[in-house]
Amino acid sequence: MTKGYVFDIKRYALHDGPGIRTTVFLKGCPLRCLWCHNPEGQNPGQEIMLRPGRCLEGCSRCLEVCPLTAISKIGSWPKIDSSKCDCCGLCTQVCPSEALEIIGREMTPEEVMVEVMKDFAFYQQSGGGVTFSGGEPLQQPKFLEKLLRLAKKNHLHTVVDTSGYAQFDLFVRLLPFVDLFLYDLKLIDPERHLKYTGKRNELILENLQKLVKLTDKIIIRIPIIPSVNDDKENLNLMIKFISSLGQVGGVELLPYHTLGKDKYGRLGRNYQLLDIKKPSSEEMNRIAAYFKENNLSVLIGG
Ligand code: SF4
Ligand code: SF4
Repeated sequence: MTKGYVFDIKRYALHDGPGIRTTVFLKGCPLRCLWCHNPEGQNPGQEIMLRPGRCLEGCSRCLEVCPLTAISKIGSWPKIDSSKCDCCGLCTQVCPSEALEIIGREMTPEEVMVEVMKDFAFYQQSGGGVTFSGGEPLQQPKFLEKLLRLAKKNHLHTVVDTSGYAQFDLFVRLLPFVDLFLYDLKLIDPERHLKYTGKRNELILENLQKLVKLTDKIIIRIPIIPSVNDDKENLNLMIKFISSLGQVGGVELLPYHTLGKDKYGRLGRNYQLLDIKKPSSEEMNRIAAYFKENNLSVLIGG
């Protein structure tokens, strides 16, 4: 039986495609974008996350039971070394305050769809549906295909939110069941892409060039990260590349935010973009105007 790892199911989502939607977040991503606000979605399997606000000062129960010595104390609070942890779950069982949780639930497509169908009436009224995001949802291709087939069987509008980093034949296989792709573009220069995401981008750009030949139901999403990709050189390369594609459904500019920053510490990792601030609305408007001057249809936000 096909099963997959899901790390969140968000109901009443308004920024992941048209109308009111449920967004299903699948675990696993080949990229490591330094600004990622869902770091708990990057690793393909389960992992442990700490909610520091719940941890009880003076308690050490989790340290005592961990068979792999993956938990240590920094001052009064525990710190998990994710490279040692095998997600046995013992610490979550002994924690008296539920300060530790396992991220990633193994689910069947049918179980996911039971959750999604709870808001069917809202989808009908608003023109919404279901969005599959992550992580990178194409990292679990069989699971995603099953989910999309079930969604279509239930007459749902479907969106796949992708980094584009996957084998192209997967896009072709999923295409009959996808009503809209939200396709992320970050940087055009492959070396800079490697520096900030951990991977070069030739595959992402080639996949997009091939996908637009098969469908125009694509919205390109660009996160605007000050001092990483908002410079004239990258914006010009972006505009040139997108203009060369032909018909796409539009471009959305997503302002950088730091809402996911605390999750890194809770996962025992470091957040590396500490000095970067959110772009101002003037800066976002300036970039949007620049895209419009170059005849691209653009929106700020999802
Ligand atoms: S889940 Fe990880 S941190 Fe917790 S007890 Fe098991 S190995 Fe240790
Ligand atoms: S068992 Fe729970 S409350 Fe106790 S130190 Fe560990 S995380 Fe904190």
